[in-house]
Amino acid sequence: EERMVTGELQSEDSTVELSLRPTTLNQYIGQAKVKENLSIFIQAAKMRNEPLDHVLLYGPPGLGKTTLAAIIANEMGVQFRSTSGPAIDRAGDLAAILSSLEVGDVLFIDEVHRLPRSVEEVLYSAMEDFFIDIVIGTGPSARSVRIDLPPFTLVGATTRAGLLSAPLRDRFGVLSRLEYYETKDLCSIVERTADIFETFISKEAAVEVARRSRGTPRIANRLLRRIRDISQVKGEKEISLETTEKALKMLQVDDVGLDHIDHKLLIGIIDGFQGGPVGLETIAATIGEESQTIEDVYEPYLLQIGFIQRTPRGRLVTEKAYEHFGLKANDAE
Ligand code: ADP
Repeated sequence: EERMVTGELQSEDSTVELSLRPTTLNQYIGQAKVKENLSIFIQAAKMRNEPLDHVLLYGPPGLGKTTLAAIIANEMGVQFRSTSGPAIDRAGDLAAILSSLEVGDVLFIDEVHRLPRSVEEVLYSAMEDFFIDIVIGTGPSARSVRIDLPPFTLVGATTRAGLLSAPLRDRFGVLSRLEYYETKDLCSIVERTADIFETFISKEAAVEVARRSRGTPRIANRLLRRIRDISQVKGEKEISLETTEKALKMLQVDDVGLDHIDHKLLIGIIDGFQGGPVGLETIAATIGEESQTIEDVYEPYLLQIGFIQRTPRGRLVTEKAYEHFGLKANDAE
């Protein structure tokens, strides 16, 4: 199912996003702490004429991990190679990618926590000492061959650092956590995107899109595209606040950026379990979603805005969420 307000990549995003990607650290809006750190590490590596240390970027989908990985390569002046954990089935596939790298290249592995274990083990020596041992042949005639690699930088991305095995996590020199964007930064992203689309948008409209985008640039850009269509059909010269509000209502995105799936989740806990606490697996079974998806995609933002809390006995819907639905927490009892 396609969702307007998920940070995960949807089919409608793929092509347009390429044109929206900032290419330098300066163009990359927000995430001040991450940018400052990376900028120092990049400068230092360049001064020493060495590749950058391996970098792990973690945080919810759509916050700009892939974009940042490509920026790192660009700022280092090296090639950017991109793949993902689930795309690499066998150790041999990884060996082929690694041995095609040139000195200093950035290899980006998205969803790095989903690498098969046998592939992950090949990465250890590659990351630490820039060589791999591959086994040729089988049975008694099997032998191990060592292949030296050019020094390179692995940039890994994952939704949560805790999903990585300790040996893999320990081999990253730089760990950077991306945070949900503040409204003012998202607003700048909306204005930048409107610029690229050669579209005008009023300040209030841009703020409204930003406020309802769950702190996530991918969502902000997606909402803006839909709103722009509606505004253009209406013949507006500039996207207005009124059209923005109407469009978001049509798209079923509420005042704080929640949609029917969030509502289903929250109301499910309120109606079915008196607001909780209730275990993740039970919630998943009740609303018919994968618990992993709930934990990685739906829940982080609900936690961030204080609509649910994690307790030792499970998830609890807060008074703030009850208020959002015009309910009183006591009513449920
Ligand atoms: P992730 O890899 O974390 O899922 P992406 O790097 O693919 O996220 O970012 C999604 C889209 O959001 C990008 O195509 C880009 O247009 C936009 N974006 C992300 N971060 C920024 C930023 N800091 N400034 C401007 N645009 C951004």
